[in-house]
Amino acid sequence: RQEVYRELRKKPSVTRDGVQVDLLMNAGLAVDLPQLAEAGAAGIGLFRTELQFMVASTFPRAEAQEKLYRDVLDAARGKPVTFRTIDIGGDKVLPYFKGAIQEENPALGWRAIRLTLDRPGLLRTQIRALLKACGGRELKLMLPMVTELGEIAQAREIIDREVRHLSRFAHHLPTSLKLGAMLEVPSLLFQLDELMKAVDFVSVGSNDLFQFVMAVDRGNTQLSDRFDTLSTPFLRVLKQIADAGARNHTPVTLCGELAGKPISAMALIGLGYRSISMSPASIGPVKAMLTELPLDELQAFFDDNLMAPAQGLPMRALLQAFADDR
Ligand code: PEP
Ligand code: MG
Repeated sequence: RQEVYRELRKKPSVTRDGVQVDLLMNAGLAVDLPQLAEAGAAGIGLFRTELQFMVASTFPRAEAQEKLYRDVLDAARGKPVTFRTIDIGGDKVLPYFKGAIQEENPALGWRAIRLTLDRPGLLRTQIRALLKACGGRELKLMLPMVTELGEIAQAREIIDREVRHLSRFAHHLPTSLKLGAMLEVPSLLFQLDELMKAVDFVSVGSNDLFQFVMAVDRGNTQLSDRFDTLSTPFLRVLKQIADAGARNHTPVTLCGELAGKPISAMALIGLGYRSISMSPASIGPVKAMLTELPLDELQAFFDDNLMAPAQGLPMRALLQAFADDR
């Protein structure tokens, strides 16, 4: 199998009927970087910057942040990299963060963009480090756990201030800055067109989005087999997001665990996703599926089944049958 996947690296990332789909990888530490070439990823679709904070015993200094970001871009050799601003809180705790509070519902609590907007010093330091590291290159930045559009505007103000500050001191700035939002909180589903217009790209965090749409704790093993990510309602949600992106010409990608399982990746591509980001080990198996996939037939399958599944069967069973038949 490994040999097959190695061979596949040289092949274009297209469906059997010639539609390109970018397979990107998730990363978070310098040790992940060699995987970029090994897995044959098209780039880094999600760089989890909080991992550097989680493996440290104090807040990483600005210089250490900048160095890591520069190393990531150097290792990517011009392939696209999307950095996510620090996503701490919830299940990701920093023992040395004195401001942390006890919460009854951490998943619904003071985390991610909520926390960094309340502690703008953290965000400012990180953004400055990113702007410096990306001098002369493109910076793609995304915000985790966005709930309302005002949070994007607030973050943009902080970013603009840092850009002005650095340009005053004649720093080498990024050639372009693309700002995206992660779609993880269902409130954004009811303002999709406004969201698409407010950002340069959207990345679906399907782990958190599934948790919140289904009201099921993502870490609770008692419940992990109970609800299906390939169930009709969740697939409809994912389709609405892809459609809204297409309608507004806003690139949409998905970077949760869903992207890394061949059957789910197949469903995502059928629903309109043309860029998905996964753990490096999943790229080979997903690419093997992709190059065999008759996308036109899968689209016809969804046209027939997404609103009214055949014989009332579960969507996973129907998708599995589709895959087995081909
Ligand atoms: C997600 O929620 O799907 C996601 C990619 O972010 P994380 O898993 O880091 O919360
Ligand atoms: Mg998340």
